[in-house]
Amino acid sequence: MFNQVKGTHDIILNDAEKYTFVEQNLVAVAQTFGYKEFRTPIMEYTELFNRSVGDSSDIVRKEMYTFEDKGGRSITLRPELTACVIRSMVNNKLFVNQDYPVKGYYVGPCFRYERPQAGRYRQFNQFGIECVGSDSPLRDAEVILLGYQCLANLHFYGVTLKINTLGDEESRNAYRKALKEYFAKHIDIMCNDCKARYELNVLRILDCKSPEDQEIVKGAPKIKDYLTPKAKEDFEKVLKVLDDNQIPYTVDESLVRGLDYYSNVVFEFHYSTPSGTDYGALGGGGHYHSLVKECGGPDIPGVGLAFGIERLVTILDEYNAFEEFKPALDAYIMPIGEAQIEYGIQLANSLRGEGFMIEICLENKGMSQMFKKAQRRNAKYAIIIGEDEVKNGTVNLKDLEKAEQVTISIDELSDKLGEQYHEEHHCCCHDHNEEEHHCCHEHDDEEEHECCYKKNRK
Ligand code: AMP
Repeated sequence: MFNQVKGTHDIILNDAEKYTFVEQNLVAVAQTFGYKEFRTPIMEYTELFNRSVGDSSDIVRKEMYTFEDKGGRSITLRPELTACVIRSMVNNKLFVNQDYPVKGYYVGPCFRYERPQAGRYRQFNQFGIECVGSDSPLRDAEVILLGYQCLANLHFYGVTLKINTLGDEESRNAYRKALKEYFAKHIDIMCNDCKARYELNVLRILDCKSPEDQEIVKGAPKIKDYLTPKAKEDFEKVLKVLDDNQIPYTVDESLVRGLDYYSNVVFEFHYSTPSGTDYGALGGGGHYHSLVKECGGPDIPGVGLAFGIERLVTILDEYNAFEEFKPALDAYIMPIGEAQIEYGIQLANSLRGEGFMIEICLENKGMSQMFKKAQRRNAKYAIIIGEDEVKNGTVNLKDLEKAEQVTISIDELSDKLGEQYHEEHHCCCHDHNEEEHHCCHEHDDEEEHECCYKKNRK
């Protein structure tokens, strides 16, 4: 027996289906906003993260999985994907024809040597997007709308969106100076992390979680008093889009985020859980001014966000939100006797070809064992095949919930399974409540629309 590496977890069986479900939903939203996928390597040269995420961040200072490869190069398992995606955009010359913005989404594992706790792993998965090359604050706003839409699609109601601006460079320089003056009077009694932050990036002190330090932070100067007129106007434009689109938010002046590359708007999505466990932010992001240039690209800004898939899945699970998505087997095929198995395989194959989820017993088991298996697999129907059925081209179809059995010809079988699917999934267009299902309202019959059970089962 070998244990998993501390802070990592296996994502298997039903849980893996939950991850896939959440990831597919997130990706579908990104695609509706015109984003295209980026799959980058999980390892990069360490320098990329030192330059981008920044020397003053906890990630670079304490959390990176860095090692020397056999060629003596310093390699790091990616702690986040923004820098990787930008690096990839630069390497693949996506900025050359200046068709801005360049928009990418990603899904994949990240690695941070953090203390494992609720919602915090050493290997975890992120979904995120990057929108590069536009300096319009409306792009920042659009990215926040995208993030909100991702959560709405997953039925997170009552999300708290915290938002702040770190201002442009001029605002931040003035603000840093004011913070340095203020914290100089208190730094002796603050935590060691804050002492380091005071030297490396004083802004990050605002993010300190120690209750004693937070008291001191409360009295610190506020960014809003140091914003240049342009930075103030940009932030107001973002907030106006949120107001126009009825997205509730709270301006949180202590929100600075843990990565050094942010400037102007930064934001985080939070959510309360039934158990009251604090898993941390669901996701967050912001605008970055010089990251693209730091990664070897042109001097253009970008904006991005990332969600932690583990946190989304854990919270949805707490709400039992996956119950309704549990995929059930359409049918379990039970050949009675060795001779009937081949007939069963052909039937299974043709039904699967139509999109039905089918399992079959190939081990020549007794009836009661096969029924037990069908039950454990949550099958809606049992398809029982004896000698007569093979001879006559029929099957016995047993509805396992209603305990009703009929003998039907194999030609009718897929229609019969489809009917059940159709009733349960509300996926066709005729005879069910339009409001319940989104695919129904704009067209009038099955033929015109491909959403019906035989053509496009989802
Ligand atoms: P960040 O890249 O730090 O902005 O994080 C973005 C999101 O990734 C967070 O809001 C979390 O949902 C998730 N996340 C960050 N670190 C971890 C971790 N150690 N374990 C699980 N999820 C994480």
